Amino acid sequence: MTIEIYDTTLRDGAQGVGINFSVSDKLRIAEHLDTLGVTVVEGGWPGANPTDTEFFAAMRTRPLRNATLAAFGATRRAGVRPQDDPQLRTLLDSMAPMVTLVGKTWDLQVVDVLRTTTEENLAMIADSVRWLVAEGRRVVFDAEHFFDGHASDPVYALRCLDAAVSAGAERVTLCDTRGGTLPDQVETVVRDITARFGSIAGIHCHDDSGCAVANTLAAVRAGAVQVQGCINGYGERTGNANLCTLIPNLQIKMGMRVIDEEQLARLTEVARDVAEIANISPPLSAPYIGQAAFTHKGGQHIDAMSKASYAYQHIDPARVGNRRHSVITQQSGRGTVLEKAAGFGVDLTQDQALARRVADEVKRLEHSGHSFEGAEASFELLVHRARGNVAPFTLIDYIALVEQREGRSLVCEATIKVQIGELVVHTAAEGNGPVNALDAALRKALSPAYPEIGATQLFDYKVRVLDGRDGTAAGVRVLVESGDHHRRWSTVGCSPNIIEASWSALADAFEYAIIAARERSGLSGEHLEIVRLEREAAAAG
Ligand SMILES: [Zn+2]
Repeated sequence: MTIEIYDTTLRDGAQGVGINFSVSDKLRIAEHLDTLGVTVVEGGWPGANPTDTEFFAAMRTRPLRNATLAAFGATRRAGVRPQDDPQLRTLLDSMAPMVTLVGKTWDLQVVDVLRTTTEENLAMIADSVRWLVAEGRRVVFDAEHFFDGHASDPVYALRCLDAAVSAGAERVTLCDTRGGTLPDQVETVVRDITARFGSIAGIHCHDDSGCAVANTLAAVRAGAVQVQGCINGYGERTGNANLCTLIPNLQIKMGMRVIDEEQLARLTEVARDVAEIANISPPLSAPYIGQAAFTHKGGQHIDAMSKASYAYQHIDPARVGNRRHSVITQQSGRGTVLEKAAGFGVDLTQDQALARRVADEVKRLEHSGHSFEGAEASFELLVHRARGNVAPFTLIDYIALVEQREGRSLVCEATIKVQIGELVVHTAAEGNGPVNALDAALRKALSPAYPEIGATQLFDYKVRVLDGRDGTAAGVRVLVESGDHHRRWSTVGCSPNIIEASWSALADAFEYAIIAARERSGLSGEHLEIVRLEREAAAAG
C-alpha cells in the first residue's frame, strides 16, 4: 500500500521555537525534501510574510522534480465571495499546483474564534474549495482541531468534511491541532471517517502528549492515506510528528511503500543537513537518524554486538543511512579500541599489545577528567601517536595575556613558538579572548607549511567544570568542535587551568585537520614529506 508523505517543515516546522528560515534556507530544504522523495512539499503561507511570498516566487523558476508544491492558506473570510478574498487570491497567484486550506471543524471555535455561524463556516469551506478547484488547483482540506471538534459535536465535524469533499477536495486532513489526543481515540475516529468517505483521509499530529508519531501510525492503521509531519519533528510548541521516525516505521516496520530504498538510505543525511540549515544541533538520541541511535557504550553490549549485530539493534542502520558507533570510555576494553580504529581505517588486529596500550591510556586520561565520548578526533590522534606517527608540529612554548588598563577595553594577545620539521616558527596574534588569540597565533604559525588549515574553522567551544575526585584537583574539560567544507570533528583538552585545557583541545583540532587533509589528498607518506619540505623552504623564504 502507498502512503503519501506530506512535509510541512517549511510551514508548521518554521513555527518551531528557535527556527528562522530565510528564503534561501527554504529553497535548500525544499531541494533536500524533493530528493528524499516526499510526495508533497508545503512551502508556506504566501502573502502572510515576505519570506513565504518570495519563496513561492523563486520556486516558479526551479520546479520540484518529484514532489508537488503546496501553498497553505485559510478558507475565505465570512461574508465575502472567494474571488473577492485577497488571501485566497494570493494562494492562486503563488502558482503552486496544490493548495492546502485550513478550516474550522469545531463548532465552539467557529462561534468563539471566527465569530460567525456554523452554517456560514460550512459555506466558507465549500465555496473556497470549489473556487480553487475551478481555477485548476488540487485542494487538500486541513480540518483544524478535528479530533476536538469530533468529540464536541461529531455531526457538525462530519458536515465540515462533507462540505470540503463535495466541493472537490482530494484529501481531508484530520488535524490534532492541540496535540492532546491519544492513539486509540485517533484510530477510532479515522476508522469512522474512512468508512464514510473512503480512502481520502490525511493525518496531521502535534506532539503535545508525546504521541504524534504513535497517533499518525494509528491513523494509517485505520485507513489514512496521507501523513503530514516535519523533518526532525520541528514545529509549534513540542513539534509536529517526526517524519524521520514515521518514514522508516511505515516502510520498514509496517511494509508500506513510502519512498525508494535508496532514498530511505539518505534519511540520516537529510535530517542532519536540515538541522544544519535550521542552525539547531542534530538531535542526538532521535530514533533512526540520531548519532546515538546505533551507538553502543557498555562493554558488554559492544562485546555482544561484535558477535551478533542484531543483539542491540532493531534494524540495519545502513537502511536509513546511519552507522553503528561504539563509544570510547574508560570502561572500554581492547575490543572497542580495535573496532573504533577500524572505523577510521586503522587495522590493529595484528597488534593486540598496542590496542591494549591505547585502552590503558584512555582509562588513565578519562580518570584524569578527559572524555573521549564526544571527542573522537582526539581519540584518533591517540592511536596515531601510539603507532609512532610523527606529529605535524610540536609546541615549544606559549604566552597568553589578558590586559585591561585604565578603563580601556580589554586586550588579549597570544605568542606561540612551534616546531614544524626543522623550522621553529614564532608568531603573535590578538583576539577577543585568550583562547581566540591562541587560535589566531597557531593558525598564523601553521598556515605557511599547511595551507589546508585555512578552510578550518571553530564551530563550538564548551567548557565543563569537573569535580575534584580521588584526590585530583578540580579542573575543566574543554571540548572544541571544528570543521571544514568536508566534515566536522571534536577534540578534548583537560587541565586544572582553562587556558591549558583550551590549548590542548585547539592543538588537537589543528593536528587532526592536517592529518585528515593529508589522508584525503591520498598522497603517500614519502610524497607528503617532499611537499612539506618544499613548503618549509617557501615559508623560510
Ligand atoms: Zn499543525
